[in-house]
Amino acid sequence: MLGVSSPPAGRYLPGLAKMEHSSKVVSMEIHQNTGGLAATNAYLIADETSGQAALIDAPQNTVQPLIKLARHKGWDIPLLLLTHGHWDHISDHKVYTDHYPNGKVLIHQLDEAKLQHPGSQMFQLPYQIEPRSADAYLRDGDVIEVGTLKLKAIFTPGHAPGHIAFYLADQQVFLAGDLLFAGSIGRTDLPDSDPIAMRQSLAKAMALPNQTSVRPGHGPATDIGTERRSNPFLS
Ligand SMILES: [Zn+2]
Ligand SMILES: [Zn+2]
Repeated sequence: MLGVSSPPAGRYLPGLAKMEHSSKVVSMEIHQNTGGLAATNAYLIADETSGQAALIDAPQNTVQPLIKLARHKGWDIPLLLLTHGHWDHISDHKVYTDHYPNGKVLIHQLDEAKLQHPGSQMFQLPYQIEPRSADAYLRDGDVIEVGTLKLKAIFTPGHAPGHIAFYLADQQVFLAGDLLFAGSIGRTDLPDSDPIAMRQSLAKAMALPNQTSVRPGHGPATDIGTERRSNPFLS
């Protein structure tokens, strides 16, 4: 799914967009880096207090700068969480494990096959992605702790059968993967897509509060209220 890139606010390191979310409980930072043929977004979320961080997705040429940033900040990255197994979201997984040999790569079981046999079902990729298996599976309702941050895994199949989105209720942030974009939704015409499941998954996203910040797998950030009002695919 091709996405639209927008110039990120508050440039910090080249190619990195910074966004801070503070709450009474913890202080979270989200950094975004966009890369690869499909302009796919990687996110680094960190609990500044504990110095624990996690990567969400690993598009091509996005992970190295985020690792550099984490090292600069003194953060550890014990987890790479994959929203789904499409090539544009997993390309840099080995860049992560080369730097963090004990780091764990998690994905939903139904999308692990695409991690084990990486590539595009539509065309020949101009580069190779190393095959690998998951270290553990993401399941619906799992709460992944990153320091004091709590990422709830929400099973959102449709675009891909094992698609997972992550909701941080305390920070009101929804890491949407290829479920929901600003003004659009993930495509459902791929060989393993399911348009009916997609409707049900979008309904889960639309059950979140309006002020929830949406950080999608492609394109700029948005929020649930804006999409509820104006996204033509949700009416
Ligand atoms: Zn994608
Ligand atoms: Zn995808």
